[in-house]
Amino acid sequence: MSKAIDFLPAITGSFAQPAAENPTVAMIEAAYQHHGLHLRYLNCEVSHENLKAAIEGAKAMGWTGFNCSIPHKIAVIPHLDGLGESAQLIGAVNTVVKSGEKWIGENTDGKGFLKALRTVTDPKGKKITLFGAGGAARAIGVELALAGAGNITIVNITKEKGNELVDLLNQNTETKAVFHHWNRTYVIDPATEIVINATSVGLFPKVEEHLNINFDSLGPDMIITDVIPNPPETHFIKIARSKGCQFINGLQMLVNQGVIAIKYWTGEDVDQEVMLSTLKEVLNI
Ligand code: NDP
Repeated sequence: MSKAIDFLPAITGSFAQPAAENPTVAMIEAAYQHHGLHLRYLNCEVSHENLKAAIEGAKAMGWTGFNCSIPHKIAVIPHLDGLGESAQLIGAVNTVVKSGEKWIGENTDGKGFLKALRTVTDPKGKKITLFGAGGAARAIGVELALAGAGNITIVNITKEKGNELVDLLNQNTETKAVFHHWNRTYVIDPATEIVINATSVGLFPKVEEHLNINFDSLGPDMIITDVIPNPPETHFIKIARSKGCQFINGLQMLVNQGVIAIKYWTGEDVDQEVMLSTLKEVLNI
């Protein structure tokens, strides 16, 4: 029997949590059971000192792959045989896949977002405003650029991180990126077609924290997306709904990441509805 694991659960941060209460474990195992896949998805806390030994253990035990979350997303890279295109550009790995005898690092953060976005629009040639420049924003920015986005405006409070992401996109992709320092209430350019919140603003329990955006600058034709999975109906998504915009919440992005990881590990296209309903149940939303 092959196994896939989650080294350090980023979502729950708890090792001793029963599988049924861990959102990622519950979601992935629901898909395995629904499709009769003889796999298990285990949660293992691994210290930095033991990362190399844990990976060697996974290889020795014939695992098909594993997820890794903060703080191992970068540290895992030297232990792998190669990286997917976007993981290479992002400089971080959250999904490791056994491919023949090689162990390849992928990053599903941006891929999960892109899969959700494509249910509404193709980002090719689009004008995009991306709030945030952390791990999620970096992954989303890279995937959008690789998908042919026209131009991306990165809006962030910390200048260094914003400029770093802009340089990464301009130097490695065809997409034109610019940085806007977020030091006052931000007014969105009316020509923007896709607006993305990739900051941590609105994540449970800080649901009362709102993005410092002039919401009057959101037009009804803009597609609004939010990476926050919990609650799925953030203040930003509520504003989008009230304006009649098309919108995508962070819960779908999270489910898509599970779907993509399982595809990598097994080649199976699993039912996302089974995963979504399990996730909602575990998160009580
Ligand atoms: P990071 O800590 O790497 O980045 C956080 C980002 O949020 C930074 O750009 C930071 O700005 C910005 N930020 C924080 N507070 C504020 C604020 N009050 N106003 C404006 N900007 C702010 O986190 P990640 O990128 O890893 O994660 C971000 C969010 O994305 C998390 O809430 C996480 O839950 C969610 N996420 C969702 C996923 C999904 O599948 N749905 C997958 C991955 C992440 P600065 O640089 O100035 O500090």
